[in-house]
Amino acid sequence: MCGIVGYAGGRRAVDVLLDGLRRLEYRGYDSAGVAISYEGLKIFKDVGQLSKIQSNIPNWEGGMGIGHTRWATCGRPSKENSHPFTDCSGRIALVHNGIIENHLSLRKQLEEEGHKFTSETDTEVLVHLMERHYDGNTHAALVTALSEVKGTYAVAAMAEGDDHIVVARKENPLVIGVGVGENILASDVTAILNLTSRVIYLEEGDSAIVSANDITIFDAQGNRAKRDPTTITWSIEDAEKGGFEHYMLKEIYEQPTAIHNSLLGNLDEIYAGAIIPDIDVTSVKLVACGSSSHAAMVGKYIIESMAKLPTTVELASEYRYSPGTGENPFTILLTQSGETADTLAAAREARRRGCRTMSVTNMVGSTISRETDHVFYTNAGPETSVAATKSYITQLMAMYLLGLRLGTMRQALDRAEVRNISTELRSMPRYVNGVLDEASEIENAVEMLASANHAFYLGRNINYPTMLEGALKLKEVSYIHAEGYAAGELKHGPLALLDATTPVVAACVNDHTREKMLGNISEVAARDSPVLGIGLEDDRDLAAITDIKINIPTVSPILSPVPLTVVLQLIAYYVAKKRGCPIDRPRNLAKSVTVE
Ligand code: GLU
Repeated sequence: MCGIVGYAGGRRAVDVLLDGLRRLEYRGYDSAGVAISYEGLKIFKDVGQLSKIQSNIPNWEGGMGIGHTRWATCGRPSKENSHPFTDCSGRIALVHNGIIENHLSLRKQLEEEGHKFTSETDTEVLVHLMERHYDGNTHAALVTALSEVKGTYAVAAMAEGDDHIVVARKENPLVIGVGVGENILASDVTAILNLTSRVIYLEEGDSAIVSANDITIFDAQGNRAKRDPTTITWSIEDAEKGGFEHYMLKEIYEQPTAIHNSLLGNLDEIYAGAIIPDIDVTSVKLVACGSSSHAAMVGKYIIESMAKLPTTVELASEYRYSPGTGENPFTILLTQSGETADTLAAAREARRRGCRTMSVTNMVGSTISRETDHVFYTNAGPETSVAATKSYITQLMAMYLLGLRLGTMRQALDRAEVRNISTELRSMPRYVNGVLDEASEIENAVEMLASANHAFYLGRNINYPTMLEGALKLKEVSYIHAEGYAAGELKHGPLALLDATTPVVAACVNDHTREKMLGNISEVAARDSPVLGIGLEDDRDLAAITDIKINIPTVSPILSPVPLTVVLQLIAYYVAKKRGCPIDRPRNLAKSVTVE
């Protein structure tokens, strides 16, 4: 998830671009760059945050340019991998937000044709493809180039001598701000509102030619299209949260896209063996802290069921001090930031013990990615709210993809199973959207929790850790004491705590534990605890024994943690909102835990 911006008009383009990029930094901040049309094309780019880079940008005049703030998905953050990219002749400059899925095969072709690449990114193939097709018409070159790629993009490009910028979008946002004698474009309106509040949202597959005095738009079929401007009434501050009241809610709603990017960026590479080569794995250990440790626990069920590999989970803060057994499992370390002190120390300890290691992280180029043998990037984009939401859901995606890879490597899954799971995974953004459509119902259902001091979250099997994560979310943002429990364990002690003032949230899906789960919920209801059940749409038995039931779409049990987690996030969010908590910055907590 990067930010792109472009400007054509009477002001100094560098100033407009830098102001826009500053407002887009929430979308990416590992590197930044600009291309300015001034005595030819001038490019400046560097690794690091914009605030550090901007003072080095030369004082170029010039009223047209494009800019980029990067959140790496392919190629570590470095000066070479920063955008804009140019073709071999230096006549075309391009910035991109998204993922080009078939970049490896395109790169090979282009290199054979003589194109010289300067970066490790997927993006760079786009500018070389444009060069391949460029005959003086920049828009046509872009459209033809894009017809050859598989993947997602919002892209802006310009060629030397042009008076216009060309843009296109597919599954990534792009907005054009309509000014008088000037036009601006950006990944979202936050970067535009300073100049104008009249904006055109490009539709899926649209491309456009934007100059100071003109905007010409084409639809996905290449026909001229009319898109009416709308007037934005948000303040810049509202716009930064995309119109949502809190970053947490915004990030919950970004999950369909995050899941999509996580799969897109990794599915083909997983199958091609680029992420885990054919290695001999006889057992797996998953190591993590906090929410990541819950994703790891879900991962244990996934890997055991898909790959039939013995899998253990350890907390990083415990693992690093544990005696070790002399065995060397394939050790997978999960950390959103890639800088979690305990998880880093655990990675070092695993290597010291002689284990092959892999990190699952959201931060390209982070410390852990450099200190493990293999890396899986989750591609969730930057997460601002302290409580993990989209970074957690994409860690689950990582677990499914690793399960698929290890399962096929060991021939524990047959072709039909792989196909079915992959198809269902690709439908996950749609299922999650289905849950988000029910948000107001969830908001109404949480009243029973908002006034409680204690709550229990119950699940079984793969959804036992899902409920641990649900309880953690509630603790973090609403300050209610919540315990996640394996439902079968309740009668071994905690049942003593249940009464009418202790609500229970219980998940029940269509797996082999369903009957037992229904039995456990009945036991709880018999102690007068109010029960909020989460289960499949057509589960009438669950509806009959719960006070309120929230539905999730019907998915295979092994994939049920995904929609369930989204419901649990919304429950935590709405409870915290009802209690007036500072949702994005809970007391005593920090986003990246770099202390031990
Ligand atoms: N794939 C591009 C890169 O890594 C763009 C990243 C993005 O927009 O997420 O540079």
